[in-house]
This record gives sequence, C-alpha cells and structure tokens, in this order.
Amino acid sequence: MTMWQCPECGRSFKKANQKHICGAPLQTVEQYIASQPESLRPLLISIREALRAALPDAVKRISYKMPTYWKGRNIIHFAAFRNHISIFPGDKAIEHFSDRLKGYKTSKGTLQLPLDKPLPLDLITEIAVWSYETNAKK
Ligand SMILES: [Zn+2]
Repeated sequence: MTMWQCPECGRSFKKANQKHICGAPLQTVEQYIASQPESLRPLLISIREALRAALPDAVKRISYKMPTYWKGRNIIHFAAFRNHISIFPGDKAIEHFSDRLKGYKTSKGTLQLPLDKPLPLDLITEIAVWSYETNAKK
C-alpha cells in the first residue's frame, strides 16, 4: 500500500499529488484519524485508546499536525505514514527504552511501528507513562 500525504492539510490519498481542496488544518485527534486511510484507522484508534488510558491527565490535541498528548508541554505524538505508524516520545525516551526497541526502527526521538507487525501496545503504554513522568509540567 502506498499512500501520499498532502503536506498542507495532512490528508492521505491513494494517488500522489491527488487534487483536492485542502481543508482547514485538522483540529482534533478524531478528525486526524478520520482523515487517514480506512485500513489504518483501527490501528490509530488502538494507539489513541492506549495513550488515553496511560495518560488520563493529559490534554489531547493536534500539534505539528499530529495527534499529541500534552500536559504543560508535549509529552508524546503519533502519526500515520505510508508503511508505518510513528510514535514521537522524544530522544530521552527512545534512549531509555533502547534495549526493548531492538527490532524496531528508531531515529531522533521517534519509534517506527511497521504495519505488518502487531502493535506493541503495552510497550507504547510504558513509554507514554515514562514520558509523562519525565516531561509533564504540573
Ligand atoms: Zn491538502
């Protein structure tokens, strides 16, 4: 599956440079998920549910065009791409969990979750809780 994502509005399309009317920037995590290909939505919803349970205190919003959990500062983002979903917990979290992230592609504060592997929701939960404890501003 190859999808093209409009860099302006963040919507995904089957065809590269698909003509469309760029909507207003996405305002909510629900709008973000609804704008993604149907096949990705259940995965994104399960990540949203895991993060909501892990971070009951955080505010859910869009930041940098990505679903974001915020408490005084950004704690964790996630986003859908063509062949993976990325989690953005920041450099320190990726370093802290590096032993458990072998087998996944990581880069500068980012964890890539390929779409052909089950999502490691327990690990995502742990990373989110750790990031909250490390980054949230009370
Ligand atoms: Zn657009």
